[in-house]
Amino acid sequence: METVLNFINGKQVPSKGTIAWPIYNPATGEQIRQVMMSTPDEVNEAVEVAQKAFPAWAATSPLRRARVMFKFKQLLERDWDDLASLITEEHGKVFSDAQGELTRGLEVVEFACGIPHLVKGEFSEQAGRGIDIHSAMQPLGVCVGITPFNFPAMVPMWMFPIAIACGNTFILKPAKADPSLSIRLAELLKEAGLPDGVFNVVHGDRHDNEILLQDSRVKAVSFVGSTTAAAHVHAMGSAHGKRVQALGAAKNHGLVMPDVDIEATANALLGAAFGAAGERCMALPLAITIDDETADKLVAALKPKVEALRYGPGLTPEGEKENDFGPLITRQHRDNVKRYVDIGVEEGATLVVDGRDKFPQGYENGFFIGGCLFDHVTPEMTIYKEEIFGPVLGIVRAKSFQEAMKLINEHQFGNGAAIFTNNGAAAREFTYSVQAGMVGVNVPIPVPMAFHCFGGWKDSAYGALNAYGPDGVRFYTKMKTVTTRWPEQNVAHQAAFSMPTL
Ligand code: NAD
Repeated sequence: METVLNFINGKQVPSKGTIAWPIYNPATGEQIRQVMMSTPDEVNEAVEVAQKAFPAWAATSPLRRARVMFKFKQLLERDWDDLASLITEEHGKVFSDAQGELTRGLEVVEFACGIPHLVKGEFSEQAGRGIDIHSAMQPLGVCVGITPFNFPAMVPMWMFPIAIACGNTFILKPAKADPSLSIRLAELLKEAGLPDGVFNVVHGDRHDNEILLQDSRVKAVSFVGSTTAAAHVHAMGSAHGKRVQALGAAKNHGLVMPDVDIEATANALLGAAFGAAGERCMALPLAITIDDETADKLVAALKPKVEALRYGPGLTPEGEKENDFGPLITRQHRDNVKRYVDIGVEEGATLVVDGRDKFPQGYENGFFIGGCLFDHVTPEMTIYKEEIFGPVLGIVRAKSFQEAMKLINEHQFGNGAAIFTNNGAAAREFTYSVQAGMVGVNVPIPVPMAFHCFGGWKDSAYGALNAYGPDGVRFYTKMKTVTTRWPEQNVAHQAAFSMPTL
């Protein structure tokens, strides 16, 4: 059985760990590889190596660091289809979606190529008589990224390109279900000229993460995953004196106003709810209407579309039409999603389209579930409250705009939210008052571009700063502010004991 190795100090190294985690091809249900959970010694070694590599890398000019990123970008483009195939093989998402995820990661690399400009700081000439002040943005040291299974390329690339370009060293702890891509990225960084020890990958689970969270040599932790884990990582990392940004789960609402083009809105909801089999934190698993007529029309438009969804393996032979979505990540997760659909029925929602127990022909052992559509989902139901992370869309029938807003704003999660309308006043009110971090107006999945920042509100994110964009640069640097006066001008002739004013 092929084993995915750690990547420490510029090379792939086998782990001495004895706990093996199986890696599946979720489309066939077959185990294709395994990964060992690292030992505490191996985690410590990665920190030690990253700590040693830090001074020289921090002292490397931002321009030279940017050149490594430029080269890394070229290498990603060179190996594009191979990388996307690897994502599809281990995660299951369809090939074009894997390419889309890579593009979103590449865009952060492109942003990081501008690092000389981004860290040039601030300067005030003549802040006082003969006094100048400048602020410099200096790297922190060893940074850690802990990432989820659903974006094995994009989420790590939200983190390490900026962290490294800012002059930090980095340890990535990828999800154990699809860890191979992280090693390919490490090899490409090395080929791009990144010095050994600046980027390391250790595989493992919660125990390995907790070692990193408690190690005083680690200065910052970026986390993306479930909310329970995000809250735990934020609390433990903060208690050990680190900067922590921890992004968690989501349950995003799409508010469908009465004036919309129903057909276009149904298509938008279809892609946002069922793309990547719903395994996206910016998916739209809930559509909320403010009148029954719109809800009826929406359900009528969605029903045949959901029934016609094509799901199957993520890679299709050349010339054949690609599936709409692939399998879920594991058999256990597929069974969980199925259980949520059972609970939805038990709790009284109307199951309009039932995708349970329907398998694509020839892939009966794959981790598939078909698209499911619920109507009459109400706020007290489990399928309304909890993140399902599967191809399940629920229609919620509110009675007014105010009631819909109240529901959205009182939900535990506030990652994203979207409104579908041609009414400018409604859109303005929605964007102004909605309690969510990323908002779309007729844009179902409003994931910000790399030069903006990504982050949710409420229990969808913990920590002061968002991911990537300008916040990413702030997160991975500390500011030093220098006040300068040269002796020949106006030296102090006597001690001053009051607070200096310029
Ligand atoms: P997960 O929480 O099971 O695992 C994510 C990472 O956290 C893994 O690397 C794992 O090792 C680690 N981990 C798990 N439990 C931990 C603990 N108690 N302490 C320390 N580390 C722990 O999540 P997953 O199933 O891989 O990913 C799906 C989840 O990620 C969903 O909830 C989804 O919404 C969320 N997600 C959020 C965003 C976002 O931007 N908000 C983006 C992608 C995914």
